[in-house]
Amino acid sequence: MIRRLARPPRLTFADICIWCGQFGCTDSECVASHNDSTWRICPDCRGTAPGWCMCAYGLVPTTSAVPDRPAWAPLESGWAR
Ligand SMILES: [Zn+2]
Ligand SMILES: [Zn+2]
Repeated sequence: MIRRLARPPRLTFADICIWCGQFGCTDSECVASHNDSTWRICPDCRGTAPGWCMCAYGLVPTTSAVPDRPAWAPLESGWAR
């Protein structure tokens, strides 16, 4: 059973949308995707969110509504798992 965790903020502390990578994004699709998303603890850093990890504050999305690779994640991060 997957425990439902809190969602990370949709905008990072730098005001970048974690869905589309736009600064100060107010896109209703991003808001809807974010509200529909569920998250689990990042398996790479176990939620500690060190600087090298491409997760969002130690969380990664679990739902299929999430794109294979968020705009802010580089290709080589191996996001699509
Ligand atoms: Zn956005
Ligand atoms: Zn991580």
